[in-house]
Amino acid sequence: MAKIFCVANQKGGVGKTTTTVNLAAGLAKVGQRVLMVDLDPQGNATMGSGVDKRKLELSIYDVLLESASVAEARVQSDKLKEGGCSYDILGANRELAGAEVELVEVERREKRLKNALAAVDAEYDFVLIDCPPSLSMLTLNGLCCAHGVIVPMQCEYFALEGLTDLVNTIKQVKANLNDDLQIIGLLRVMFDPRITLQQQVSEQLKAHFGDKVFNSVIPRNVRLAEAPSYGVPGVVFDPSSKGAQAFVNFAQEMVARIQAAP
Ligand code: ATP
Ligand code: MG
Repeated sequence: MAKIFCVANQKGGVGKTTTTVNLAAGLAKVGQRVLMVDLDPQGNATMGSGVDKRKLELSIYDVLLESASVAEARVQSDKLKEGGCSYDILGANRELAGAEVELVEVERREKRLKNALAAVDAEYDFVLIDCPPSLSMLTLNGLCCAHGVIVPMQCEYFALEGLTDLVNTIKQVKANLNDDLQIIGLLRVMFDPRITLQQQVSEQLKAHFGDKVFNSVIPRNVRLAEAPSYGVPGVVFDPSSKGAQAFVNFAQEMVARIQAAP
């Protein structure tokens, strides 16, 4: 049975997409079967996995409107295959922004993705969902089908404030729609240990959230930022870079957590 994780944080530009595609590649690298779901109309995770969002014949939009199944809409990427870290991709593009409006009248609209993923459950070890920077109907669809939420965050002062809103949303979804849901962990990203404030916030996070803070830390690393322009995750673009290695470590930490608490 696949473990389904949302990568979510309503704050923009905190590293959600970078985390999703690199964790997907890292998990593939250590032998896991992975489906990456792009739930953001920006389509960055799609492009960052080597799939041209403008050329998608079917996408997550069709799946949410129930005009296609996941099996019909998922694609693979030659670039990922060449890099030896292949995962399946359920892509997104601007069309997805319309889904929000089109689903308004539909009953149980927040369960659309959950129902669709049930059909491919046996084919994957992990499903990773890249959420948009909002707590919208799209994010809600992600949260409704997930076993857990991975929250990437930068160790800055305002990061802690935003976390309260996210924690409350997750509590509400858990109480009303998805009893399974929990924060699996906070992932410290774009970390620079030379900056004292980042170290302080990192310590505060550990004091507050204990083992909900992942041991793995993702450093600020330019190779991770360069990779999307080549249409691959950093793990494929430059496997020996510090950023890529940190994501492969994180993938191993995730696998170990799942094995410890299935
Ligand atoms: P959005 O909210 O728009 O979806 P996001 O949370 O998905 O954004 P990303 O797109 O992953 O954030 O990252 C924002 C920017 O920071 C990108 O330019 C990305 O390349 C860069 N970036 C992310 N992680 C790192 C890192 N560890 N080191 C250096 N640059 C990074
Ligand atoms: Mg993103």
